[in-house]
Amino acid sequence: MLPQIVYTAHSNGLMYHAVGHGFTCEAYGVPSLGWLELDWPDEYIDVLAQRNGKRDLSWNMPLISALCYSREDVQKRIIDYAVNYIEEHPEIDYLHFWLDDGHNNKCECDRCKNIKIADLYIKMLNTLDYELTKRGLNTKIVFLAYHELLWTPDKEKLKNPNRFTFMFAPIQRSFLQPLPLIEEAGEPKKYNLNKQPFPQNNYEMAAHLKAWTEYRKMVGMSLSDSFDFDYYLNDYNDPGQFIQTRLIYEDIQNLKKNGLGGLINCQSQRLFDHAALPQYVMARALQQPELSLDEIVDEFFFGAFGNNYEVYKKEWLKLTEASAPLRDKENMEFDKLKEVLAAPLPEEQCKDLTTSHSRKLMKFTKELFLMLTDMTEQAVLGNDEKVKEIQEKINRYTSEKESEFIIELDRNYFKGAMERLLKEKLDKENLDD
Ligand SMILES: [Zn+2]
Repeated sequence: MLPQIVYTAHSNGLMYHAVGHGFTCEAYGVPSLGWLELDWPDEYIDVLAQRNGKRDLSWNMPLISALCYSREDVQKRIIDYAVNYIEEHPEIDYLHFWLDDGHNNKCECDRCKNIKIADLYIKMLNTLDYELTKRGLNTKIVFLAYHELLWTPDKEKLKNPNRFTFMFAPIQRSFLQPLPLIEEAGEPKKYNLNKQPFPQNNYEMAAHLKAWTEYRKMVGMSLSDSFDFDYYLNDYNDPGQFIQTRLIYEDIQNLKKNGLGGLINCQSQRLFDHAALPQYVMARALQQPELSLDEIVDEFFFGAFGNNYEVYKKEWLKLTEASAPLRDKENMEFDKLKEVLAAPLPEEQCKDLTTSHSRKLMKFTKELFLMLTDMTEQAVLGNDEKVKEIQEKINRYTSEKESEFIIELDRNYFKGAMERLLKEKLDKENLDD
């Protein structure tokens, strides 16, 4: 299957990106295909990160366990593994060379404790580049800034910037506000080993991007060959889809101004139920950023509903406006939202199959969100039994509908979003005020 995908991608002018996390495990013979609880070989315990005086796995999972990255033998082993991998895979255009997938799990040994992870990472990237150059391999290497690596190096500099592509993954960002322009951001908080003050809002996140943009300029990297790795379209908190739509459009408009050239979104493929509009806007705005948001939105609604699209667009805008109680902790206007969700669709005879399907999908969305609204309201009222009952009803409903809406609903993905909806309404402060 994979060779076919790569072949087809290349035939269509696309670049193939591969790997990411995993080199820290595979180099020691430990599988890396997920956050799996696995044993670590006894003979390599001494290469694991030392925390609280002990060398051990983090959460029993090798993939999210850091190593003692200041050890030269550790660096060499990971790099040798990556070099061999690249040599064996000439089909890869961009090899992502990332460290472990954990955070606040880094080594506290006497050698590591006074060196930022970014310094050790850049040192490894330079060695990787040296070894690849020696072998005449031109594969591009993608390096990642997230968690501890949001903090830029103190002294190490990339020696061959043309080898590398920068990827910024603002995993702690809020999806209720856009990422601001970096000139509006302040300075990052001070690096603090294993007690990192990770960004609490999008301004703090932008401060890290600003620092990395300055670093990249300093070492002579091209800013255009870089990208944001983001997590849009994950939430079920807006049946009208305009919140994500506006946010994605603004973020894409800001990409270049913030020193980024593009976007990779970490998402399910099957999300055309709750995120068809923002998904469409994402693709169009990346291709033609000169188009206005209104132009793209109208294009979407015309495509989905035909000549009479304005009436549906108004309905979707109304759904976004009324659904504030699903996003705003303080807003309790559930009755108003339920009324909008329960209202019938505009009266119209469908002129084609696309409109017919779009209406069917819209009806399904409203039914599903009506249940989600009920669930959220009951949770706010503290009726835990009732919440459980509604969740069971939703599970039955979605399990029945998944085959009907196979490209629009990924039930596994939806379940995570349903849990997050409650969590954010009940516990979590919005990241941005
Ligand atoms: Zn160490």
